Amino acid sequence: SPILLWYRRDLRLSDHPALQAALATGRPIIPIFVRDALVDALGAAPKWRLGLGLGHLSQSLGSKGSALVLRSGDALEAIKTLISQTGAGAVYWMRAYDPPSVERDKAVKAALKSAGVEAQSFAGHLMFEPWDVQTKTGGYYKVYTPFWKMVRSNPVRDPLPTPGQVPGPADWPSSEQLDDWKLGQAMQRGAQVVRPYVQLGEQAAQARLAEFIENKVARYNDGRDQPWTDGTSNLSENLALGEITPAQCWHAGRRAMEEGKAGAETFLKELVWREFAYHLMWHTPRILTGNWREDWDAFPWNADETNAEVQAWKQGRTGIRFVDAGMREMYVTGRMHNRSRMIVASYLTKHLLSHWKIGLKWFEDCLIDWDPAANAMGWQWSAGSGPDATPYFRVFNPVTQLDKFDKDRAYVSRWIAEGRAKPSAEALSYFSAIPKSWGLAPDAAYPDPIVAADVGRKRALAAYENRGF
Ligand code: FAD
Repeated sequence: SPILLWYRRDLRLSDHPALQAALATGRPIIPIFVRDALVDALGAAPKWRLGLGLGHLSQSLGSKGSALVLRSGDALEAIKTLISQTGAGAVYWMRAYDPPSVERDKAVKAALKSAGVEAQSFAGHLMFEPWDVQTKTGGYYKVYTPFWKMVRSNPVRDPLPTPGQVPGPADWPSSEQLDDWKLGQAMQRGAQVVRPYVQLGEQAAQARLAEFIENKVARYNDGRDQPWTDGTSNLSENLALGEITPAQCWHAGRRAMEEGKAGAETFLKELVWREFAYHLMWHTPRILTGNWREDWDAFPWNADETNAEVQAWKQGRTGIRFVDAGMREMYVTGRMHNRSRMIVASYLTKHLLSHWKIGLKWFEDCLIDWDPAANAMGWQWSAGSGPDATPYFRVFNPVTQLDKFDKDRAYVSRWIAEGRAKPSAEALSYFSAIPKSWGLAPDAAYPDPIVAADVGRKRALAAYENRGF
């Protein structure tokens, strides 16, 4: 009987343990994707990007003599229907680690097993299962550096090959049409503005990795902190949807390290930051929803999203160039340089005293590399409420950070049009991307700071002094 291969955030054919296990049985394979409530709940940009990824995966499977069967509704119900329509005797999938997916998958597994259907989940979205990495006393890690030291010499499995053919059933079950799902509906700027920045699918991801190792990793130690240059791998977009695996990236990084390329170890460390984020999410799922350090619940955050300062932050018109450049970069490209992510997050949570959850949600709506674990860790790190976080009293100065990381102002002039005789195409594209209701124009004067760097710093430190915990 056939095997249902349930795709989720693992949109690839290479290095796919569940697919390889299914192939090894010699049975027909029916790849499926279910648009359930968790898909419907995605933010605008990640949902749109998922739609692109699914279209691409469907083509890749087509080129292997297979197809992707699309169904919507409750995952278990959809799978049960498919089982009765195809006579499938097994369901295989790649494990997910965010709490709502874990809950869903547990229920699906239990129900299938009690119905006598084989149900198997496989590891691969991470290099190290979160429960396998333990402190000496058997606990989980709350601090990155010991986590890194613990895992850095652990073996990472060798990536698996891309299959030649994926054998299907004699009769295919019906499929819904991807276009009918309108996954890009809430992302009006998607096709026109963001699409040129997308690198879609596993071949593109592999090319990105190869290019990074070939041309960028040697300069990565500096390049990763220079938002004006393309000095990083940009692989977060592909890792988020499983178009490439961390194991594939790890082995490429290891080889580069053995070849003596400076920056290669730093790249491995960044991949382990991603693992650490999943480790934290697994062991303390509250990192997604509330202050990881619970005493921070008493901090007088502004939690009002309609607040005028928050609106200015979202719309990239705070009058602080580094912040506005980052926010505009994200709106146009669906991604933002890591240095800018730290600066905009610090400005929101410290200078504007606004709750990190507001920022987390806006990122979730705008990022094509949105990742639940990395986003939550990044926000709580920036706000000071997370484990191993930057302390609240360490307030980034968004003006002097420019002198350090954008000395020639190449980054801010790429993204800010106002006040320039000849604005860059990127800076102008922001104005065609934003809703008219934001009322912004490239030929207007650049705004004065809504909260100046020194004023905001004093305000943040005063709030911290008086926090009462
Ligand atoms: P590279 O520098 O090439 O690094 C390689 C890979 O390592 C990345 O693709 C990523 O998977 C991982 N990595 C690097 N830095 C981090 C980090 N700090 N935390 C976790 N993993 C890391 N990353 C996301 O993938 N999705 C998010 O939604 C996200 N939200 C963030 C929010 C905030 C407030 C902050 C401060 C950081 C966030 N990050 C997020 C982490 C980081 O900014 C991005 O992973 C990085 O900018 C991606 O670019 P790159 O692929 O070129 O990274």
